[in-house]
Amino acid sequence: MESSLQDIAYGEDVFNEKAMREYLAKDTVEALLHTMNDRAPLDPSIANEVAHALKQWAMMRGATHFTHWFQPLTGTTAEKHDAFFEPVGTAETIARFSGKNLIMGEPDASSFPSGGLRCTFEARGYTAWDVTSPAFVKRHPKGATLCIPTVFCSYTGEVLDKKTPLLRSMQAMDKAVRKLMNCFGEPESHAVITLGAEQEYFLVDKSLYLKRPDLMQCGRTLFGAPPARNQQLEDHYFGSIKPRVLTFMEEVERELWRLGIPAKTRHNEAAPAQFELAPMFEELNLAVDHNMLVMETLRNVADRHGLVCLLHEKPFAGVNGSGKHNNWSVAYNGKNLLDPGKNPQDNAIFLSVLASVIRAIDLHADMLRASTAHFGNDHRLGALEAPPAIISIFLGDELTEVINRIEQGESAASANGKVGKLRVGVDTLPPIPRDTSDRNRTSPFAFTGNKFEFRTPGSSQNCSGVCMALNTIVSESIDALADEIAKLPTDASFHEGLEAIIQRIIREHGRVIFNGDGYSAAWVDEAKKRGLPNLRTVPEALAVLLEEKNLDLFAKRGVLHPTEMRSRYDVFCAEYARKVRLEGKVALETARNILEPAVMNELGSLAKILCDAKQAGLTAGLQSLTEKADCIGRGLDALHKGCEALERALAADEQEILRAMAALRAAADALETMSDDARWPLPKYRDLLQIH
Ligand code: ADP
Ligand code: MG
Repeated sequence: MESSLQDIAYGEDVFNEKAMREYLAKDTVEALLHTMNDRAPLDPSIANEVAHALKQWAMMRGATHFTHWFQPLTGTTAEKHDAFFEPVGTAETIARFSGKNLIMGEPDASSFPSGGLRCTFEARGYTAWDVTSPAFVKRHPKGATLCIPTVFCSYTGEVLDKKTPLLRSMQAMDKAVRKLMNCFGEPESHAVITLGAEQEYFLVDKSLYLKRPDLMQCGRTLFGAPPARNQQLEDHYFGSIKPRVLTFMEEVERELWRLGIPAKTRHNEAAPAQFELAPMFEELNLAVDHNMLVMETLRNVADRHGLVCLLHEKPFAGVNGSGKHNNWSVAYNGKNLLDPGKNPQDNAIFLSVLASVIRAIDLHADMLRASTAHFGNDHRLGALEAPPAIISIFLGDELTEVINRIEQGESAASANGKVGKLRVGVDTLPPIPRDTSDRNRTSPFAFTGNKFEFRTPGSSQNCSGVCMALNTIVSESIDALADEIAKLPTDASFHEGLEAIIQRIIREHGRVIFNGDGYSAAWVDEAKKRGLPNLRTVPEALAVLLEEKNLDLFAKRGVLHPTEMRSRYDVFCAEYARKVRLEGKVALETARNILEPAVMNELGSLAKILCDAKQAGLTAGLQSLTEKADCIGRGLDALHKGCEALERALAADEQEILRAMAALRAAADALETMSDDARWPLPKYRDLLQIH
């Protein structure tokens, strides 16, 4: 077959600039682009024309319905479809889609979590068009739907979604960055935050998945002994991709490309049956929307291939978990501010932004950690293949050297006898290599040459919460720095002053920099000595949302009002409790109704064989049979006790449930390893982790 790069139809299903120019008058296009690119308010007088064009364009792609597409606090996406068609008389319909339909929606959204922000008498939520993320068409086997990205808020304007605070945090960054750039005499422009989200996932064969109630209901296995051949051989990572998986990936990519999502790399990950998809980075708001579509597309396409895509952070105990590395940076006037640059001015700007990030992470590691608090992630963080729950920064040797040379100043001019002092804004920085090979994969927050890579977020998480927190805390530090710089004299002593400020920030906040092995036990002790928080579980991490200093910070930055933050806390805590309880119930049901009967059968069959052997007058083998029956019998007792303990725990708190589940699992997994393969009722890890 001919190579078909031409027919990938990139962006075909997005109402992008090309589509606008085809369907809208020139002035309308300019007005719309002005809003999209420069975040100018939308001119309501063009709404009707845009709606009409969108309808025509979408209908050409087979769309019969439209939906406001939004991101409630559940972390997923939500849509309620309305048909374009309205009947006229009994035998005819006309297609209708007005400016009002486009701009605002009133989904009956009373069932979405609001954390008490909506009273029952005003249960409605409102969706409003987010013009900065283009509308797109989602295709289904028998039709298509026009999707309009929207924000979601209550009647009184409190946010009920993940997108609104993200947009607000981008504004906070924009304001702070402009102020900083102004101090450096840079031309008037605006800040663009960028995100490249590397998505990890597992694939399992659907026929096996359907035999695992735990996978089906909880997205992860609640039972399962590790296989003899796990990932010890490390032969899967970057290994050649099996044809069945490659066919799946190619279909995923084609769908993503149609939606204008720049899926770029694909490869096998560390665990068997684990993979990664990475797009090229994009403007943050768009990248977040796109990541939601990536996850949805992975799931849908897998289904068509007799596979199931698992986005859970830890589907298999003892096997590598899945994260979502958030590559984050900020550009101004087309220049990446985390690129060290090649001249003293760019270097000085880079060092200022870097110092701000260091300060932000040190001051607010708790909020950053809280943004990754997610039940699935608890099973992954701190496990041997994922960053710890302690947030620290990896800078790499070269940049650390630079930082040290600045920090030590004149007094330690030749700290190691080789290098001298580095003067900010005067000397040129030595080249900092781009980290293309992930030199330290154990760090939760790594500088990788021209961006930071935040690795704590879980694979199933919506990136918006994480980036919202990051933007908010960094904007505060940039703002504070700009305030200080603004006070400096603008003459030749400017750079000396700047250097002193950067020096002080590094001295005060350098404790958060750690280039060593983040997986080691020694780091946990060391981090404790440095006073860095180690928030291991969701409840510990979420508790920080309510701390006065954090409520204050998010309110001052205009990102979340304290009532909004508190409502989030309530929603996230309730979600955690619900998930733990659901898992507890599924574990109990599975153990009682599937595993116990199977083990009883096994024991019964052993007992029968033993009787038969005795009756037949055999003597050899009797001892082995007795021992085996004994073993299984004791295992059955342990399983039974485990069930009873879990049942009691289900009436207690979440931590109790988790402990009881772990004990029950240990009993079940031990039985699995001694039982007859043919009788074990759940597909084993060995089979689940193989794709044929
Ligand atoms: P790798 O980690 O495989 O070596 P890269 O480091 O180049 O690859 O990129 C990893 C991810 O980071 C990709 O999604 C890439 O688009 C993204 N990325 C690269 N530059 C930036 C940037 N300036 N801002 C945000 N993300 C970026
Ligand atoms: Mg990476």
